[in-house]
Amino acid sequence: MGIRRLATRWDKLDQTAIQRLQLRLLRRFLRRQVLPFSAQYRAVFGELRLDSESIRSLEDFRKIPFTEKRDLLNTSEHPERTKDFLLAPDRARLARRPSTLLRALTRGPRAAKASLEYEYRPVFLTATTGRSSDPVTFLYTRHDLDNLAIAGHRLVEVFQTERDYRVMNLFPFAPHLAFWQVHYGAIAFGLFNLSTGGGKVMGTQRNIRLIEKIAPQALIGMPTFLYHVLQQMLEEGLRCTGLRRIILGGEKAPAGMRRKLRAMAGELGSPGVDVLATYGFTEAKMAFGECPFPHDGEPSGYHLYPDLALVEIVDPKSGEPLPPGTPGEIVFTPLDARGSVVLRYRTGDIIDGGLHCEPCPNCGRSVPRLVGRISRQSEFREMRFDKVKGTLINFNDLENVLEELTGVGTWQVELRKANDDPLDVDEIHLHISRSGRSGDEDRVRRDIRREFEERLELRPNRVIFHSSSEMRRLQGVGKQLKEEKVVDHRPKSSAAQKAEPTTKEASE
Ligand SMILES: [Zn+2]
Repeated sequence: MGIRRLATRWDKLDQTAIQRLQLRLLRRFLRRQVLPFSAQYRAVFGELRLDSESIRSLEDFRKIPFTEKRDLLNTSEHPERTKDFLLAPDRARLARRPSTLLRALTRGPRAAKASLEYEYRPVFLTATTGRSSDPVTFLYTRHDLDNLAIAGHRLVEVFQTERDYRVMNLFPFAPHLAFWQVHYGAIAFGLFNLSTGGGKVMGTQRNIRLIEKIAPQALIGMPTFLYHVLQQMLEEGLRCTGLRRIILGGEKAPAGMRRKLRAMAGELGSPGVDVLATYGFTEAKMAFGECPFPHDGEPSGYHLYPDLALVEIVDPKSGEPLPPGTPGEIVFTPLDARGSVVLRYRTGDIIDGGLHCEPCPNCGRSVPRLVGRISRQSEFREMRFDKVKGTLINFNDLENVLEELTGVGTWQVELRKANDDPLDVDEIHLHISRSGRSGDEDRVRRDIRREFEERLELRPNRVIFHSSSEMRRLQGVGKQLKEEKVVDHRPKSSAAQKAEPTTKEASE
């Protein structure tokens, strides 16, 4: 089949043309794919007495209710809930389609069947990394895998990657979007790409040996793991010259973390590296990236693919659409997916600069961009970390405070109960490893206490310093798929009893 539409002018349309294109694609997607083949949305449209012809504008589309994460979870009544979201074609209907008839007439029935299988047969899946709930699985057909490759090709373009770059993918090997997005993107673009599987598959040492051997121009992975890898290379007195890009994904990439990674790359012999972030999630089946920006400036946002996805920003409380440039929750609708499909999917992610439609100040592309910091409320809500010591904690702020402190290298927040007594008060212990040449422990401790009180109105009960190798052990580097930056050691039973439903979110 090859890869469709690589040559299309995805990033050359102006704002009006993008809006027209998206409406046309949305209507076609509803008419030809979603309404005939999705059990979930056939029911939703039926209840509202709507059909594809009722959707004549984006305002009309907003009559369709949001889909939320909880709608995708299996329950005892619906043990296979996600199946309702699968485009399951009706053979008789497909056989009557003019395109199927034409292919059968011109190329024979076997070719017609192969083409339908390409489009509709699930052949791949990725899943969410839910801690407290079952993972949600999303199915891909070969049509979706081609879209994954197209999205990956575009990421490589946005990152301004040169054709002769050698890429190392240090994402954990798992059925997660991040790993596969890099793999398919690099292959589609024709980049040399080595996937190590991250720390859990090979251990940090073997990742380092491979970095020495391959001398990559681009390193891709989760910020915390990349930090440990570069830190260990510095401790061992190694060099890593020729590095041009560090691409981050899988967790947030605060400005402080980017600065540290750039500084470490500089110390290893690669000054001026661009540290760029990606934003993706299981339900999108694709990821978006930032283009290189001046190192003393701000990122210009995640560049969206207007022909593959429609992104809305809504008020997280009322669900009302918000104008461009307004902070709000990211809502996602694919425009050309097969396999598992969600419409108006509420990500639970808050973007603090909103959606921007004017051309990018850095690369000039006219695609819509998600600008600012993204807070993933869902992670912390799932882990019951929003309420500690009886007060609400904004964990996104907490993460930023720690990342911005120059004396702090890596950290872990540990929640405990005083005296390990389930009925006693909550305690916060901070585990810290200092970064390279920063001041003494007392000064770092004072800085932490001051910033915590001023910005978070919070007093950590203890600040405990560790060597970087001890921190690697605490965070489970090389053992966990994702390094543990927050751990809850409060006895489970009492915490569950005390957990109160709260609507106050991390974004406030
Ligand atoms: Zn740009």
